[in-house]
Amino acid sequence: MSASTDEVAVERHGFQAEVSRLLHLMVHSVYSEREVFLRELISNASDACDRLRYLAQTAPDLLNDASGHDFRIDIVVDKDAGTLAITDNGIGMNRGDLIDNLGTIARSGTSAFMAGLTGDAKKDINLIGQFGVGFYSVFMVADRVTVLSRKAGEAEAWVWESAGDGEFSVQSGERSGRGATITLHVREDAKDFLDQVRLETVVRKYSDHIAVPITLALREGGKEGLPLSVNKGSALWTRSKGDITDEQYKEFYHHVGHAFDDPYATIHYKAEGALEYTVLLFIPGMRPFDLFDPARRSRVKLFVKRVFITDECEEILPAYLRFLKGVIDSEDLPLNISREMLQHNPVLAKIKKAVTNRILGELKKKAEADAAGYANFIELFGAVLKEGIYEDHDRRAEILRLARFRSTAVDGWTSLDDYIARMKPQQTAIYYLTGDDLDAVKRSPHLEGFKARGVEVLLMSDPVDDFWLTVMPDYEGKPLRSVTRGASDLQNIAATENEKQESAAPEGELSALIAALKENLKEAVKDVRATDRLTDSAVCLVADEGDMDMHIARLLRQNKQLMKDAPRILELNPQHPLIKALSARAATPGGLDALADIALLLLDQARLLEGEPIPDPSAFAKRLSDALMRAVG
Ligand code: ADP
Ligand code: MG
Repeated sequence: MSASTDEVAVERHGFQAEVSRLLHLMVHSVYSEREVFLRELISNASDACDRLRYLAQTAPDLLNDASGHDFRIDIVVDKDAGTLAITDNGIGMNRGDLIDNLGTIARSGTSAFMAGLTGDAKKDINLIGQFGVGFYSVFMVADRVTVLSRKAGEAEAWVWESAGDGEFSVQSGERSGRGATITLHVREDAKDFLDQVRLETVVRKYSDHIAVPITLALREGGKEGLPLSVNKGSALWTRSKGDITDEQYKEFYHHVGHAFDDPYATIHYKAEGALEYTVLLFIPGMRPFDLFDPARRSRVKLFVKRVFITDECEEILPAYLRFLKGVIDSEDLPLNISREMLQHNPVLAKIKKAVTNRILGELKKKAEADAAGYANFIELFGAVLKEGIYEDHDRRAEILRLARFRSTAVDGWTSLDDYIARMKPQQTAIYYLTGDDLDAVKRSPHLEGFKARGVEVLLMSDPVDDFWLTVMPDYEGKPLRSVTRGASDLQNIAATENEKQESAAPEGELSALIAALKENLKEAVKDVRATDRLTDSAVCLVADEGDMDMHIARLLRQNKQLMKDAPRILELNPQHPLIKALSARAATPGGLDALADIALLLLDQARLLEGEPIPDPSAFAKRLSDALMRAVG
């Protein structure tokens, strides 16, 4: 402890620029659901208790101070002073913590919130509801806030204070035990939060599911009323399903998942037998902002006998289920388990396996019971789920059955089973086309012949599609075939009546053209051949049967993982007027003197249609100009 000083040193700090922007928004908010600040404060207090409870497993002395052994959260409304104070006896914050945690934007959700700001105040305020922006939301209702805190195990206490303008101050303070007290000087226009009935309703709503007991007391006319207990203080997941309302589940989801939407699914059960554990997991109804974070981390919280252990455990759920939020509470793991010991832990491995099976089972039920809801789930998380086809060898087919796809035959999503049910009598393969985005895929010339014959093609545009397709050659005994690879076997499939019966270039003339093109293009292509894949376009590129699919090759090239790509096959549409005209000329002696340019133009055209880069754009532009000159000249 420092010697007594006559003058207390007050340090002033400026907020990080983003925080200032956020505060400005908070201070000027007219957001109708300002009560969410209480959700944030209660949530933080409960998190602080969880974190200390974990540390105390190995360092029990941390609890030996005036704040006592039993965790609690006390809320006091002081009508005389116009303040609202929330006190917890959790881990607390020291000087550095206060500056770091309450002066910057540490939390990634808040950065996502900031990134989502439009500058339009009305829209931006609604974002608060979607993200909840943590501690700073206190400035929606308070014109001054102080945080008096002492960190567990430390002797000194600190006071953080701010009026929600550009800066905050930190100075040393007095506090008998560890924990934090957040005091809000309630704004004139938010005095309803000093009303006991109003406050009780709000606190109850946000604390019902909190595992720490919460009390509410009123101070008025110099007298303090008895603290009223507002929640059960038992962990929600330990209660039986029948005792939990939808509203309570939802609020718990918001707390545990840092989420603000309605969950799509709630999975709550207790496993008993060789291993005992309780699961309360939620599938969000909105995409979490960090879903495609390269770390692919699950945020499900691991508890051991009601003690929070970690929310950064890679072994708890497979990465392809990382969109789930919630809690898994084990009775079998030791309480003093360190985060390192969780790696390769056999108990955890068994829990992971069983919970994964359960979740996939729930998804199957959801898909059968409510196609529209499931379509929305696929829209949000289908791309992540499909990572499992690549990664989870044992459940490959099961996950593929749960996956849904765009297709040329339906407007919405289709399962592979439904695709198979629609297959043509002669059709033996499941056809697909992959690309960068759905619109580009839909426009691909490779689809023309399939469309004309009414043969359905699955349209895939998630980057992961190209990867799982490399490990999944078939489904239910039907090969999965790219329409851009190998020879087309369309002639084996019955033609539909509406198929265009255009006359084709005569065989001999076409062979002459093909020979001439090969002669001119040399190594630039692997082969030149006629195709029945096309109806409207003159040419297209395809990969040879054994070669890498063109889209995946392009992805790998973009990531510098593939230096040299195999040459492609140039296919010609014998019914196209240009090909017919060129064929006719090719058959006459000296008829194709200028073929070098035409051959290269045809190849570049096919590349463009494919979305492939053109190796020499200036040469292409020159050839095109020359061709146009001949046309006008
Ligand atoms: P989040 O809770 O998502 O991290 P907040 O803005 O709500 O974001 O809080 C920021 C940080 O401030 C917390 O992560 C925590 O480290 C710290 N904090 C807030 N309230 C408390 C508290 N009552 N006790 C201890 N630390 C707290
Ligand atoms: Mg918080």
